[in-house]
Amino acid sequence: MSVVDRQEWDVVVVGAGGAGLRAAVEARERGARTAVICKSLFGKAHTVMAEGGIAAAMGNVNAGDNWQVHFRDTLRGGKFLNQWRMAELHAREAPERVWELETWGALFDRTKDGRISQRNFGGHEYPRLAHVGDRTGLELIRTLQQKIVALQQEDHRETGDYESRLRVFQECTVTRILKDGDRVSGVFGYERETGRFLVLEAPAVVLATGGIGKSFKVTSNSWEYTGDGHALALLAGAPLLNMEFVQFHPTGMVWPPSVKGILVTESVRGDGGVLRDRDGRRFMFDYVPDVFKEKYAETEEEADRWYDDPDHHRRPPELLPRDEVARAINTEVKEGRGSPHGGVFLDVSTRMPAEAIKRRLPSMYHQFKELADVDITAEPMEVGPTCHYVMGGVAVDSDTAAARGVPGLYAAGEVAGGMHGSNRLGGNSLSDLLVFGRRAGRYAAEYAAGTAGARPRVDDVQVDAAAQEALRPFSARAAEPADGPPENPYALHQELQQTMNDLVGIIRRETEMKQALEKLAELRARARRAGVEGHRQFNPGWHLALDLRNMLLVSECVARAALERTESRGGHTREDHPSMDRKWRRITLLCRLTDPAGGPAVTDPAHGRITLERETTDPIRPDLLALFAKEELVKYLTEEELYE
Ligand code: FAD
Repeated sequence: MSVVDRQEWDVVVVGAGGAGLRAAVEARERGARTAVICKSLFGKAHTVMAEGGIAAAMGNVNAGDNWQVHFRDTLRGGKFLNQWRMAELHAREAPERVWELETWGALFDRTKDGRISQRNFGGHEYPRLAHVGDRTGLELIRTLQQKIVALQQEDHRETGDYESRLRVFQECTVTRILKDGDRVSGVFGYERETGRFLVLEAPAVVLATGGIGKSFKVTSNSWEYTGDGHALALLAGAPLLNMEFVQFHPTGMVWPPSVKGILVTESVRGDGGVLRDRDGRRFMFDYVPDVFKEKYAETEEEADRWYDDPDHHRRPPELLPRDEVARAINTEVKEGRGSPHGGVFLDVSTRMPAEAIKRRLPSMYHQFKELADVDITAEPMEVGPTCHYVMGGVAVDSDTAAARGVPGLYAAGEVAGGMHGSNRLGGNSLSDLLVFGRRAGRYAAEYAAGTAGARPRVDDVQVDAAAQEALRPFSARAAEPADGPPENPYALHQELQQTMNDLVGIIRRETEMKQALEKLAELRARARRAGVEGHRQFNPGWHLALDLRNMLLVSECVARAALERTESRGGHTREDHPSMDRKWRRITLLCRLTDPAGGPAVTDPAHGRITLERETTDPIRPDLLALFAKEELVKYLTEEELYE
């Protein structure tokens, strides 16, 4: 048996982004001894990259805003597929979570009368995003980190040990959830720097590992986004929900190739930036779908007047939800009206004084100056769609964030599914992290306290199997020569990214998704022969070989669910089924890892297969439905639902 460092905790939080840190603070404050474990350095989670802001109906800039309007916008954005209870909790609790952050030291931009300023964003009826320039995620993480340190100092004063009740294990990757029967018993992982294995025993584990973007070739996501939490949940027996919904952000950089995919924040459009084709035409007016027609301007004059007088004019179509804008750009490029490098133009230079651009969008100014040698105060940017966010994720209970079917497992943040339906509105992720991070921490702590006296035990056989699985890439070359030649993890990763980009990307077709599934099956078999050389001390090839298991499992879930859903809705566009179909609104697709005959979940991905289940969602509560006009509901709900 391999040498393994073992420790006991009450709650283990996997991930130190906004969701993980908020969960850890809550669990510790509720008395649970809490460990946080993260792949990256502490403070360098993906959340740091969030630019635009945190959506919360505080009504600071427009007093008309309230949680009901935020709820309504969120459901419209998600095309009514959201788990409505999550959307309700999110809209109700987000303002409190932002004010709380402020009491913990966050320094938001202010309105003239000194309140937290809020900016416009696509799909939000009122200015709603609390922000810090275009570096909001950084401030969020800085504040939560500071809170963690404050709690550790408090613990030191009481116990003489900073880490007695709250400890961060940075640069450690979790590769398995351990179980005692059905219940969670801890996690298995390795230190990236030394390669040493560790087991954190705990009755409750919160997954807060973020998204899956690194399975796609063009993405705004950071290196951590290999779908680990999604795969860990699957392997532990929890289902993933609605994985077909992947958000392609309309505006990523398209040039130069080395930076393709890097995000251009939606705040550029929120603050007045407009999209133009190669002839300078503002093309978004051609792409307002019927369901949104009443809310969006028909002429440039009307759209421009909205910035100064939003109460009496309709919004510019550049601020449609992201899925609509991404598809519009895709069409412009495909039909030959794009920019020289295969995108369209996003212009802020003719819309705002240079000084205001530098003040309101400092990161964008530097990003383009340094990476593309473009001065955005003087010329337009070239932008195009980039894989940005996954709406699908671990199926959780709306109130408690408990993962379905695995007692002791919780999920919050981007790894959890349901909150955003088929498409997330900008700014709704940071608020989601805070609302559901807190809830996950609370319920995980309560669950752990309830296991006192009957804590689950870690099974040594599982620990040994996890260690062997992790070491496999070092012996892959010799282990199964009969299967075929050894494989290079980097080459496999590239093939996977190309496959997902080309065959399960922004516009999907049945034949292509079938091809993708064949390719993914081939890659899964070849990934078992992914071999690496060298040793366990910081070996990136080894890390990637282990991450491949997760990316392949998750990609298969995306492709299978996308093939099954024969309609277009939000982040899922089928060329062969171009309309939204009301019949599909109540259908949730669940992916599970099962044995080849479709039996109970197996824990060895090599021998398991992804199976799909259809589930009917709960009807939306009548008082929430009453927030919408009947004429609008008719566009989304089936006759049956309307009748009910
Ligand atoms: P993350 O912040 O990514 O944290 C994941 C954590 O899990 C990391 O610490 C990682 O190291 C760890 N981890 C992953 N796998 C493992 C493993 N196997 N073992 C151990 N640790 C692991 N949303 C908004 O609402 N507003 C915005 O303005 C906004 N701007 C954005 C800008 C960009 C460029 C991008 C890419 C996204 C933006 N988003 C925005 C989306 C938002 O940033 C993310 O959805 C959100 O930060 C996800 O937070 P999280 O806590 O779920 O995960």
